[in-house]
Amino acid sequence: MEWVISISAVGSMKEQIRPLDLVIPDQFFDATKRRVSTFFGDGIVAHVGMADPICPALAATLEKAARATGATVHRGGTYVCIEGPQFSTKAESRIYRSWGVDVIGMTNMPEAKLAREAELCYATLALATDYDVWHETHEVVSVEAVIQNLLQNVATAKDVLRRAIPAVNGPRDCGCAELLKNAVITSPAAFPLTTRRRLDLLLSKYYPPADLKKRAAVRRDPRRG
Ligand SMILES: [Zn+2]
Repeated sequence: MEWVISISAVGSMKEQIRPLDLVIPDQFFDATKRRVSTFFGDGIVAHVGMADPICPALAATLEKAARATGATVHRGGTYVCIEGPQFSTKAESRIYRSWGVDVIGMTNMPEAKLAREAELCYATLALATDYDVWHETHEVVSVEAVIQNLLQNVATAKDVLRRAIPAVNGPRDCGCAELLKNAVITSPAAFPLTTRRRLDLLLSKYYPPADLKKRAAVRRDPRRG
């Protein structure tokens, strides 16, 4: 698996993004609190770049498919991810709006971070269900209204996916496949074996398993204590 398309229900944080509109964000703000947000740690440190968290090639494919459905599509924008499961208070919603975010949701973080660490192409199709709670003249966000728009958005999302998925193929020349290349800070000689084994799927490309076997053999050699 090399591509991840996230289908996300979101609240709109801007007047011009109306309920049932589609947004393909290009930025995130992570306001989650209690989620595991990295594959690394346990003795292997990696700092993956998040400046551009969305794969531009996959986002372009999504945009083309989304526009083909006839829906209103907004390319670009910031998705703020809150912990949930409760919706925002009005104060929180106003503060997020003052930060200039475009949509609000509860699902894209930390999966977008983990996708970058796993060198996957990641893009989001966000479907607006409501105006969150900041909109003075719009009805206060109710679970019923959200669910109703959610169901309509599910049908739209399926339509977009039917068009987008056949177009996702071929070699990746977007740079996503090399995100870990210079991201691991810990010296390979200092990798704890158990952590190195746990991260084999991510690291074997850059640190061949042969090294691992050699190190394991060294460790098992009783003459080396
Ligand atoms: Zn990519």
